[in-house]
Amino acid sequence: MQLDPLVKPRSVAIVGATDRPGPGRTIIESLGAIGFTGPIYPVNPKYQTVLNLVCYPTLTDLPEAPDVVVFSIRNPLIPEQVRLAVKRGARAAVIYDSGFAELGEDGARLQAEIAGMCREAGMAVCGPNCMGILNPPARVTTYKQTVMNTTGLAGNVGIVSQSGSVCIAMLSDLRRFGISLSVSAGNEAVTRTVDYLDYLIDDPATSVIATFTETVREPERYVAALDRAAAAGKPVVVLKVGRTERTQRAITSHTGGLAGESRVFSEVLRAHRAIEVTDLDEMTEVLAVCQGRRWPRGRAISVITGSGGLAEMILDNATAVGLDLPPLAPAERTEAERVIGRITGDGNPFDAWGNGNYAVNLPHAMSVVEQSERIDAIVYCADTGNEGHLGHPGRVLENVKMLAEAAKGSGKPYYLMSSRPGLMNTQQAKALREAGLVQIGGTRQGLGAIDRVGRYMTAPKPLRQPAHRSQLPLGDLLAAKPGRRTVNEYDAKRLLAGFGLPVTREHRVATIDTATQAAHTLGYPVVLKAVSDDIAHKTELGLVAVGLKNDADLSRAFAQLSERIGRLDPRPSDAAFLVQEFVADGVEVFAGVSRDPDFGLSLAFGMGGTAIEVTRDFALRMLPLREGDAEAMIAETRAAAMLGSIRGRPAADVESLAACLNALADFAQRNADVLEEIDLNPIKALPEGRGCVVVDALIVARAPARG
Ligand code: ADP
Ligand code: MG
Repeated sequence: MQLDPLVKPRSVAIVGATDRPGPGRTIIESLGAIGFTGPIYPVNPKYQTVLNLVCYPTLTDLPEAPDVVVFSIRNPLIPEQVRLAVKRGARAAVIYDSGFAELGEDGARLQAEIAGMCREAGMAVCGPNCMGILNPPARVTTYKQTVMNTTGLAGNVGIVSQSGSVCIAMLSDLRRFGISLSVSAGNEAVTRTVDYLDYLIDDPATSVIATFTETVREPERYVAALDRAAAAGKPVVVLKVGRTERTQRAITSHTGGLAGESRVFSEVLRAHRAIEVTDLDEMTEVLAVCQGRRWPRGRAISVITGSGGLAEMILDNATAVGLDLPPLAPAERTEAERVIGRITGDGNPFDAWGNGNYAVNLPHAMSVVEQSERIDAIVYCADTGNEGHLGHPGRVLENVKMLAEAAKGSGKPYYLMSSRPGLMNTQQAKALREAGLVQIGGTRQGLGAIDRVGRYMTAPKPLRQPAHRSQLPLGDLLAAKPGRRTVNEYDAKRLLAGFGLPVTREHRVATIDTATQAAHTLGYPVVLKAVSDDIAHKTELGLVAVGLKNDADLSRAFAQLSERIGRLDPRPSDAAFLVQEFVADGVEVFAGVSRDPDFGLSLAFGMGGTAIEVTRDFALRMLPLREGDAEAMIAETRAAAMLGSIRGRPAADVESLAACLNALADFAQRNADVLEEIDLNPIKALPEGRGCVVVDALIVARAPARG
């Protein structure tokens, strides 16, 4: 669908235009203020003229088919007017009024009626329940706020928001960037976030895209758009709301319960190189960082201050959120101290007060970190308000001059940072901008924004090539038993072993005699478990007996488990026993795969056991994995600490654990068409050199497609 008539119309018709205050009048006045030169057609049977423009009684009376029709009327009147717009050949529509799908069934019906007409006519539609569209570079607006001043309005940030209030918020601060397009998309009855994204990726005026999203409507197209944006070098900054988890899904595995909608969405953004933010402060700082002439090529930041106190605060906050502030190397420190005098701490943040001669010390500090190969971005932290009561009047521009001087001839970006977000001296911000530098604010938000852009600029590792294996696919196993949804521990382990996953030695048996034989083959101690497709979780039914040391232990356990299975209602059809080697040592971790209905398969990893459901401390990645993902997943959870050597216990075999995650990912991808979930809980990570072993496994097949 063509978006041009909607986002940069050459003619605008306004249904319901009057001289009185309201959206109609706002649009007419704003079109004048922004410098629109095309025809404006007020439509209203009650007037001959509106704001000195010729007014037409109905849309059918217009002298030409307009590019866009805006509807400054209440919702019951809209379907009839949309019909007329279609009839007159209008190419796009903006519908402001609310009371549609957001209000329940009646509204949804009304919205569907309008959407149907417009879609059939190939009309792009903004709304309903929206603020419209502002396009400063094209000098046109259908945005429902009055344009009062166009200075600095046009810029390179494209905004697409499902909330009008977020548009208002974003447009209320244009000190550091201007707008290439701002869309308040509303209910997205026809034209959706992904359509605007596609438009902005190709729009030469746009170099960074900011989105506020409640619902992603076409996941596959959305992901494809993110990939296209990344390829075009335009960051997509995403603020997604609604991070409470979906509760309606039927889930068999524990992993399925963990990988909720919001974690998966975050991982989808990571996998497709979008920049996720959690509030408008973070969003604004990222957009500001993107205005710099140079962007950070990596995440390592050097923060220079003249304050020991701020340095400490910044270090605390940076450490807490995992920012990369590398300390000065010994040679750098020596060179710095030669001029500055004693430097406290490890030199990042770099308190350059030293002997107090900051006019010399600050530039010297910058030159030292400028030359450091490890540093990607340089930040000078200094607070200056707008109409400050205190301070030295010349300082504001001196700081700009100092930074500009330092940045000259550098390949690195330089920033001036105030310690709180949003506080800045306008004159200073403007001067910085003219020098290709950026003012950021808030130590967490500002430094976090550099970190996010630095991460974006770091080329992603290549996707992992799955090892080639010609094992029995899950599909064949399922086909042998029609209707089978869960695959029990024994069968699941056989499948996984075929993909190179290390599993416990074990035998499936039916009688105490064969069980005893199996135990002798394995050697005591052993574990006895019930095994059945109908029993997904054994412990809660008392169907796992560990640490059996001899024949007597085994036969006691066998009798007990037999009795418990006998009492199950309904009785499992395929119950048998598993005699298994007892793995005494090692750290229990879990790995699992689950399917998101929108975005497909993801892999999770964390500490084993049930605590995970409380702590939610687990790593997640979408499949396919990239090189190094498995290692990173192990490192990023608290499991990492448990896997290290603690109190004399040797460190676990992390390398084999990573291989295990990769093999699991291979298995999942190979069987993606029939796979819903996998739980490996626990995997026992043994001491270094001894590998790891999958102790329990559960595979859940996808429900057959309906219809
Ligand atoms: P469930 O179906 O309840 O998850 P598991 O097979 O995971 O049953 O067994 C429950 C717990 O018993 C495991 O989390 C683990 O701590 C312990 N366990 C099970 N099998 C073994 C084994 N072969 N060696 C050592 N411990 C085991
Ligand atoms: Mg288990």
